[in-house]
Amino acid sequence: MKIAFFSTKSYDKEFFEKYNQTNTLTFYEVPLNESSVRLAEGFDAICVFVNDKVDASIIKILTQLGVKLIALRCAGFNNVDLEATKKANISVVRVPAYSPHAVAEHAVALIMTLNRKTHKAYNRVREGNFSLEKLIGFDLYQKTIGVIGTGKIGEAFARIMLGFGCKVIAYDIFQNQNLVNLGVEYGSLDEVLAESDIISLHCPLTEKTHHLIDNQAISKVKDGMMLINTSRGALIDTPAVVEALKTKKIGYLGLDVYEQEENIFFKDHSEEILVDDTLARLMSFPNVLITSHQGFLTEEALTQIAIITLNNITAFEQGQKSGNEIEIN
Ligand code: NAD
Repeated sequence: MKIAFFSTKSYDKEFFEKYNQTNTLTFYEVPLNESSVRLAEGFDAICVFVNDKVDASIIKILTQLGVKLIALRCAGFNNVDLEATKKANISVVRVPAYSPHAVAEHAVALIMTLNRKTHKAYNRVREGNFSLEKLIGFDLYQKTIGVIGTGKIGEAFARIMLGFGCKVIAYDIFQNQNLVNLGVEYGSLDEVLAESDIISLHCPLTEKTHHLIDNQAISKVKDGMMLINTSRGALIDTPAVVEALKTKKIGYLGLDVYEQEENIFFKDHSEEILVDDTLARLMSFPNVLITSHQGFLTEEALTQIAIITLNNITAFEQGQKSGNEIEIN
């Protein structure tokens, strides 16, 4: 098949070229949006990522251009208007699981860095400053960790935290029996908010989870708690979190995702003026650590993303089901 890739980075090209056998791959660096969508002309399929715009107006143009398949090279699909793809008879496939460990381990990296301040220690020592002032952390051992969303990534994360000797509590609309067997206790959202020293978000972005962490939720958390979000930016009402950082209600914030990340993350803006004041404010706190959506960025995850996406495309071409179709009733 002829496939047009949008938002291509060097690592996408490297891993997809390595595992591609029969398809013709064309890589565009530009994201999919109103100004780039016509690049899809002449292609059977497009391959997109988390911040590509796949709304009703884009889907209408893709239909006119003859595109029959949208292959997401990610798990989340909140950026795709599924009503519109269904109406247009365009199939949508995704990579539901590539390496839950990649994202779970990144969430742990955020916790460890925020807590033990290794990023500050690294810079200090390189400058010949061997002082330990203001580097005090806390033992993770016996702390209470709240996991919101205990699917594949939430489970991998919970298992790691159990290994640290933490008490793990969880909130999900479905209980994960593997975790229950390991001693994870499920509670209501309010209970998890109130009892956790660290809360890590691992649920998808839906209408129900949009701004799950808002002013009301923040009012219920422990003073000085740590909040980690490696899932989707809009799970958090960012201005509310900024206020809570100012009052020290939230003591630490680790983000791999940001509600307005679309035009910022994945690119080098180092020589530009940052116009997003909320992000600039977040970056000004000493107890906030932001990474630009790199939870998935491991060799293992990139390998699986390429292999599963190419298999999804082959199955579609052969009129078969891959099991990774996103379908709505
Ligand atoms: P998953 O489908 O295996 O698990 C999601 C869990 O969330 C499920 O157990 C589900 O029941 C639960 N859930 C759904 N609605 C909920 C609600 N209203 N309240 C509480 N729980 C709810 O998904 P996963 O593979 O674990 O991925 C989780 C999320 O991680 C994805 O949706 C995606 O947004 C994010 N993600 C981020 C990266 C990254 O690079 N940072 C990479 C992959 C995925």
